[in-house]
Amino acid sequence: MTPVPDAPAPDVVDLIRVKRDGGALTDADIRWVIGAYTDGVVADEQMSALAMAIFFRGLAPAELRAWTDAMVSSGQRLDLTAVAAPTVDKHSTGGVGDKVSLILAPLVASCGAAVPQLSGRGLGHTGGTLDKLETIPGWRAGLSAAEFVSMLRSVGCAICAAGADLAPADRKLYALRDVTGTVESIPLIASSIMSKKIAEGTRALVLDVKVGSGAFMRELGAARELAQTMVRLGAEHGVRTTALLTAMDVPLGRAVGNAVEVQESLDTLRGEGPADLVEVTLALAREMLALAGLDTDPAAALADGRALAVYRAMIAGQGGDPDAPLPVAAHVQVIEAAESGWLRTLDALAVGTAAWRLGAGRARKEDPVSAGAGIICLAKPGDRVERGQPLLELRADDATRFGRAREALAAGIGIGPEPPVIEPLVIERITS
Ligand code: URA
Repeated sequence: MTPVPDAPAPDVVDLIRVKRDGGALTDADIRWVIGAYTDGVVADEQMSALAMAIFFRGLAPAELRAWTDAMVSSGQRLDLTAVAAPTVDKHSTGGVGDKVSLILAPLVASCGAAVPQLSGRGLGHTGGTLDKLETIPGWRAGLSAAEFVSMLRSVGCAICAAGADLAPADRKLYALRDVTGTVESIPLIASSIMSKKIAEGTRALVLDVKVGSGAFMRELGAARELAQTMVRLGAEHGVRTTALLTAMDVPLGRAVGNAVEVQESLDTLRGEGPADLVEVTLALAREMLALAGLDTDPAAALADGRALAVYRAMIAGQGGDPDAPLPVAAHVQVIEAAESGWLRTLDALAVGTAAWRLGAGRARKEDPVSAGAGIICLAKPGDRVERGQPLLELRADDATRFGRAREALAAGIGIGPEPPVIEPLVIERITS
């Protein structure tokens, strides 16, 4: 986006001062600063100062709307009108063992909606959907806009990498926030996520806002505020949006990693999924189908193999072989229960960090990930365990990684004489 030639360009230092001192930026200021930053006219150090001022001062609803508009307009907005079925997507704020997208996209497509899912790679202790799917031999994440639309028309869903022209302002700003301590700002997170979803062209969206130790938002109040902010932004931009707040204190399902999560997704599509993963997936599917105006029971589509058939078509449509064996790690170690009792805690952050250290995740966005590395949780909180019983199976291609992974888990496993209280997985629903 280029600055309007005949309007005097604002002085970026003045805009930083306005925000620093608690004032409000105008729509024109915001349009200009986002466009000028995308074009390289506003320097990284100036944008970092502005992001820090926003971190402390926030953005009023009108500013946030203009900020999000400007991020969407910095690139292309996909046109999905050629897709006959109602479009509805899901976005998760990220959790440990969160492989829901792999099951949900084909499930909802098998019920008659079209699911246009532009996804990302993982950074830190939460995994990325593309990293998981890339463990399937032949599968490719890159689709052109025409291929994406064609998949939506023929299969009903596609999960692929966002192109460089989708909200490029966010791509640049997110990388800058990552290195300037300005990621954890509700207006900046909300505008970052929603600008990409609005630009993707979906007409409806369900947000899975994770809450707990393994989530971006650890506190319920902050998660609720983020969800409300995103739901409002969706409504303001013509995207019908609902959010579910879901628990992320314990890994979702039993598998944490890349190929191991693909395998667990397949098991779930074959009707053999762990109860917590099935519960969250069906809750999100019901919300998506309601927004799409479809009255179909997703539990039936999961049970009778319709969702599995769409999954296979989705993988094959992107070059993957759904029957090919998945990569397996070279080395396995087991962590056993140190005492008998009830497993009370299996901390999501500890398990996510351990899986990351085993090679399943990356520290910098250019790092490779190991396809086979990860963790299988052989017991979950609420299970009775005996001393010496295997609790976790750690998998790695590089045996030197086990030590640091074990260190991450040291304080993450709690066994006690009483069974724990198991809190509900779906905590709250937020609509506009
Ligand atoms: N995910 C995003 O896409 N943006 C953020 O700012 C945080 C998480």
